[in-house]
Amino acid sequence: MKKQFAIIGLGRFGVSVSTELHKLGHEVLTVDINETKVNEMVNDSTYSSVADGADEKSLRSLGITNFDHVIVAIGDNIQASILCTLLLKEMGIESVWVKAQNYYHHKVLDKIGADKIIHPEHDMGNRIAQHLVSDKVIDYIELSDDFSIAEIAAPSFMNQKSLIDLNIRARFGVTILGLKRGKQFNISPRAEDQIQENDILIVIGHKNDLKRFEENT
Ligand code: ATP
Ligand code: ATP
Ligand code: CA
Repeated sequence: MKKQFAIIGLGRFGVSVSTELHKLGHEVLTVDINETKVNEMVNDSTYSSVADGADEKSLRSLGITNFDHVIVAIGDNIQASILCTLLLKEMGIESVWVKAQNYYHHKVLDKIGADKIIHPEHDMGNRIAQHLVSDKVIDYIELSDDFSIAEIAAPSFMNQKSLIDLNIRARFGVTILGLKRGKQFNISPRAEDQIQENDILIVIGHKNDLKRFEENT
């Protein structure tokens, strides 16, 4: 069934939640105080609006009370995140999920009635562990807290497609460092190089992007 979601705050987390919900066919309103962020979501959401999530009038003028689910993904501005959550619960929104930055933020959100509190960094740690045991990910090298290299088995739909066709860097933000085909190793493939079934992709990128790449391929 088609559901209605509003996402307030379009950092990496808010964007990935919105894009996925939209892809799954749901009605998605994306909101940010920053116009550039809002414009970037025009194609990946149903409606995209500039508004201050910590301002009651602005929220009401978005028609936010018509949404069953609202996700507060405001990051560093903890004060705005708390105020926004409080306003949404006061307006009677049934399901308000909020991204928390830290333990104290979490405690306050809990007190004011957030229905679910999300810790992407913590959850990501768990998922990384799952990456390690996933059958697509062959190897995983942590370069820093944020960046990794993964060896991923090429899915069959990539067969005979070039990097340009697949538009990998633009779509997922990851870069293919190399293609392993049996004993052959193509280091730094060109954009025209084609992938074949059973190739192994050596992919570098931000962990969030690598995860997105693995899950959507
Ligand atoms: P992520 O880790 O998911 O990338 P982040 O922790 O970097 O996110 P920020 O960039 O601090 O998060 O905030 C996410 C978004 O929330 C930003 O695009 C910012 O413009 C937006 N934002 C901040 N304050 C408000 C507000 N009062 N109303 C609406 N959006 C806001
Ligand atoms: P970009 O916009 O990504 O910096 P570009 O506009 O110079 O690249 P090309 O280098 O011709 O264009 O590549 C076209 C597209 O092919 C890129 O946008 C990217 O999505 C994909 N691509 C090319 N090389 C790679 C690579 N090594 N790994 C992942 N994707 C690639
Ligand atoms: Ca962050």
